Amino acid sequence: MRVRVLEPDPQAPARLCAEHLLAPYTDPAGLDALAECDAVTLEFENVPVEALAALDGRVPVRPGGGLLARSKHRAREKEALRAAGVQTAPFEVIESAADLEGALERVGGRGILKTSELGYDGKGQARVSTPAELAAAWADLGRVPCVLEGLVAFGGEVSLSVARTAGGELAFGPLIENVHRGGILRTSVFPAEAPEGTEARAREAARAVAEAWGLEGLLTVEFFLLPGGALLANEVAPRVHNSGHLTQDGGGLSQFGAQVRAVLGLPLADWRPLLPCAMVNVVGVQGQEPDWARIDALPGTHVHLYHKAFRAGRKLGHVNVVAPDRDTLRKRVAELERLIP
Ligand code: ATP
Ligand code: MG
Ligand code: MG
Repeated sequence: MRVRVLEPDPQAPARLCAEHLLAPYTDPAGLDALAECDAVTLEFENVPVEALAALDGRVPVRPGGGLLARSKHRAREKEALRAAGVQTAPFEVIESAADLEGALERVGGRGILKTSELGYDGKGQARVSTPAELAAAWADLGRVPCVLEGLVAFGGEVSLSVARTAGGELAFGPLIENVHRGGILRTSVFPAEAPEGTEARAREAARAVAEAWGLEGLLTVEFFLLPGGALLANEVAPRVHNSGHLTQDGGGLSQFGAQVRAVLGLPLADWRPLLPCAMVNVVGVQGQEPDWARIDALPGTHVHLYHKAFRAGRKLGHVNVVAPDRDTLRKRVAELERLIP
């Protein structure tokens, strides 16, 4: 494949791509250059829907603007998940001061207030356990449209990707187990440790979303896994996912390969690592560096850095690790977590 990238940020990793067009997403010349391609896809949800609309009818855009508009807006996303028959945490849409009245009680007494747009890595979120905290949090977030979610006492978190071709054929990624620290993904592990039947339920939910939302391309659903084994969908990413980066080094098709195949209508089957594997994110910590020499010396590691400028709390890269069996994998992950601040 030859890849052409339209990206307005001169510091974005896309600058390393051979055909990098540095221009706003809505730039007419940039969009003309994309329209010459066989297909257009995205790996970032904050692309303006107008940019995709401007390409409509000129080149297949996968996923399309309608799906993007849903997944980038938390309130619409949650409503659309429920409409597809997929369970979520209890939530209330907060758009005015009047919406705050009784909202916390209705979601179960403790919750997380999240901005409807532009939040990631736990940014634009606040935990609240009293109506006064809720009011203060909404003021702090700028009184912008928000979703108040009930706090879920989950036993774990998992994610699963689904790909769908324009012809409606489906393929699924593996069930991946995720651990977050301070709202940021820290580690992902395959195979996930989850009760019998969890993967089938996650696939069923992902299928329902893919079909109800008319997916062309690839999307990922993040889930809360309840102690009894039930799943609640947390959010949908209209793209490959940080948790799926472990598929780069697990020996099977990677999530990136799956996305390209789905977008171009090439043969595609479920993709799955051939070996137990995991990913540990490298997040910027002021004054501390990962111990690269010892990381490189650990068997089975693959370092991936994004060439982004350092910022505390920013995802700067990830380290994948593979192992012949789960026990060895857990030990290597524990070691990586010691070596990566
Ligand atoms: P990203 O897009 O980077 O995954 P985000 O900013 O969109 O993150 P969420 O995925 O909504 O944020 O939340 C981040 C993490 O915070 C979740 O993975 C989970 O660990 C925790 N969290 C979010 N919502 C809830 C909830 N309702 N109950 C309990 N924990 C939650
Ligand atoms: Mg998110
Ligand atoms: Mg998330």
